Amino acid sequence: MNDINILIVEDEKAISNIVRTYLEKDGYKVYQAYDGKKALEIFTSTKIDLVILDLMLPKLSGEEVIKDIRNRSKTPVIIISAKVEEEDRINGLRLGADDYVIKPFSPKELVERVKAVLRRIEKYNIPRADIIKTKDNRLLMDLKYNRFLKDGEEVSLTKNEFSILKTLFSSPNKIFTRDEIIELTFGLDYDAYDRAIDTHIKNIRQKIEDNPKKPQYIKTIYGMGYKSGGVDDVFKE
Ligand code: CA
Repeated sequence: MNDINILIVEDEKAISNIVRTYLEKDGYKVYQAYDGKKALEIFTSTKIDLVILDLMLPKLSGEEVIKDIRNRSKTPVIIISAKVEEEDRINGLRLGADDYVIKPFSPKELVERVKAVLRRIEKYNIPRADIIKTKDNRLLMDLKYNRFLKDGEEVSLTKNEFSILKTLFSSPNKIFTRDEIIELTFGLDYDAYDRAIDTHIKNIRQKIEDNPKKPQYIKTIYGMGYKSGGVDDVFKE
């Protein structure tokens, strides 16, 4: 077992089962949902690392499922669909899918695509842990429920502030340039100019630091950018 949980959302049980067999052969733990509603239930209650998603599903369409997933996480999604039109593929990718595989597909190829997507995520260091803490145990970031606590009290952060913190805290040893923070936090097509990041950082410091003028948790690295301070290596709860 490699401790990676994959959710297959597919109403055709034969397809679902064959994909399951191939994934299990490679050591993945597999969950199966046969409709969109059940998919979201499993996604909410279980730590899922990657979703394989059919589009034409009972109860809730794959499009609805991916929208809901994207509203709360960056968990990778691979769409498997019989919809072959270019427009459908583009639409799927626009909704935030990481890959689009057209049916019928070879299960072997699908597993390779799963691996490729997971490799890409590792490269960009998107955290798979749900909880990130500082070594002094004062700050806690809960990525599953999108909460940030200081000394046990919830800190009210905007969505952008939370996302920036997530980027910084997910790679405690890395110095980020402003461009990297923008790219990793908001994606390539976000057209904020890099000084906007300084304003966000300033606001975040007001909320999480004891003394924002002498920050311990977000350090400025002069001439380079920012780095988190005192964050424990990312761990899984
Ligand atoms: Ca289907």
